[in-house]
Amino acid sequence: MTKSIVLVTGGSRGIGAAASLCAAELGYGVVVNYVSNKAAADDIVSQIINTGGEAIAVQGDVQFEADVLKIYAACDEFGTLVGLVNNAGVVDRPQRVDEMSVERLTRMYAINVIGAFVCVREAVKRMSTRHGGRGGAIVNIGSAASKLGAPGQYVDYAASKGAIDTMTFGLSLEVAGEGIRVNAVRPGIIDTDIHASGGLPDRVAQLEGKLPMKRAGTADEVAKAIKWLLSDDASYTTGAILDVSGGRAILP
Ligand code: NAP
Repeated sequence: MTKSIVLVTGGSRGIGAAASLCAAELGYGVVVNYVSNKAAADDIVSQIINTGGEAIAVQGDVQFEADVLKIYAACDEFGTLVGLVNNAGVVDRPQRVDEMSVERLTRMYAINVIGAFVCVREAVKRMSTRHGGRGGAIVNIGSAASKLGAPGQYVDYAASKGAIDTMTFGLSLEVAGEGIRVNAVRPGIIDTDIHASGGLPDRVAQLEGKLPMKRAGTADEVAKAIKWLLSDDASYTTGAILDVSGGRAILP
């Protein structure tokens, strides 16, 4: 039997990098996807290999179907897919909705929604017992923004993460009888580079004092929840959304 592997989209930095390390701790071979920062992906792969695990880095932009197919072709060469951490996602510069261009919206939804859908489509094709697979686990990465709405900042991003919540519910039921569990983790403010990429490098420092726990979370803290949902310890958990937000936006 070929080795069991987990694909982590955007697995090279931030939450995805921590999730890649956690997937390796569970004993899986890890496909570390990245879009442009090869050095960061190679570093995560080296960390996994240096601790006795197996991993490969695979470039691909999830907004392009051809790239997603290329990533999955690399997975098929590497082993048998039993897990997907559907993590790749972007924010954009703070803007009101009445300022947003179609170009901005198209990019946001191409990556955060359509990319996420094409990634789960390809995972289900490989893991579903309906298609001859062995089953598996999908962990989508949502955001507390889906409940907060992010007014004046990025309502488009918040709504894209609302789509991830709904996809998690629907897909989990669609494949519940086919050996696949589908869950989501909904992080709050986590100290990663994503805030700088949206033009707000000081966002964590500015918000920290206002958060319930008076601090941001770490990528490791989110990855531990992902690790549990990927693992057999969560064997009866599907369709769940786990808030890992230090209390931020826990009320509906
Ligand atoms: P990050 O630090 O900015 O890392 C992003 C990762 O995704 C990198 O590995 C990057 O690759 C990759 N990536 C970006 N665009 C991609 C694309 N189009 N195709 C494939 N890979 C792509 O982000 P993060 O903070 O860890 O966020 C990860 C996920 O958590 C996102 O879905 C985000 O919305 C969600 N989230 C984050 C927070 C937070 O506060 N940080 C809160 C709630 C939810 P390169 O290294 O090659 O650029």
